[in-house]
Amino acid sequence: MNTTDTTGKLFVISAPSGTGKSTIINELMKCDDLQLEFSISATTRKPREGEKDGVNYYFLSLDDFRQRIEQGEFAEFEEVYAGRYYGTLKSEIERITSMGKNVIMDVDVKGGLSVKGLYGDKALSIFIVPPSIDCLRERLLSRATDNIEEINKRVDKAAYELTFVDKFDCCVVNDVLETAVEEVKAIITDFIAE
Ligand code: ADP
Ligand code: 5GP
Repeated sequence: MNTTDTTGKLFVISAPSGTGKSTIINELMKCDDLQLEFSISATTRKPREGEKDGVNYYFLSLDDFRQRIEQGEFAEFEEVYAGRYYGTLKSEIERITSMGKNVIMDVDVKGGLSVKGLYGDKALSIFIVPPSIDCLRERLLSRATDNIEEINKRVDKAAYELTFVDKFDCCVVNDVLETAVEEVKAIITDFIAE
């Protein structure tokens, strides 16, 4: 079967790091009627405290990741930060769609556009925007999972990432969390019904 020939639909959630993608996805996963299954990405970054292999990510060595690139195992991959790779394995999309479920993915803006390009009408790309860059920095500081150098890297990249917003199918501002979740839920519900 062609990898892109899926029965389920794909929902790509992209946003600058710290905007609230994971938080929104976790809320959406509680909605049984959406039949969503999270696409677990592969990455070469080290696990954060509490993160588990095969749950949050497939944590791979750089050599393993490179080998899988050469073997054509990725639907998309990006060097999101210097020397740090993230990618969606084709086998992961197949795992989810073979269960008859819809795929929800947390990928960076370039990866989001690649998935949309690959899966076309089966995929909906949703861009989540922070209320402001200052607010984004505050969220990264309050999340307290990255050191200040890492936070600065992520904030510096955010302005560039925000220039991609018009290339996405839709955009939702994550100001009040409950409102943003409801908005994304409505968008997903409509797309499933199409
Ligand atoms: P991302 O997955 O985009 O990197 P997270 O979901 O980890 O972002 O959210 C970053 C931080 O911001 C977390 O501490 C989260 O609890 C918080 N957060 C998410 N959405 C909101 C919101 N609407 N208002 C305030 N804080 C939020
Ligand atoms: P984090 O290190 O905070 O978990 O993720 C950093 C960035 O990598 C986020 O912007 C996230 O969306 C992105 N990312 C996670 N998985 C993938 C993936 O499979 N592909 C791409 N292109 N980006 C990913």
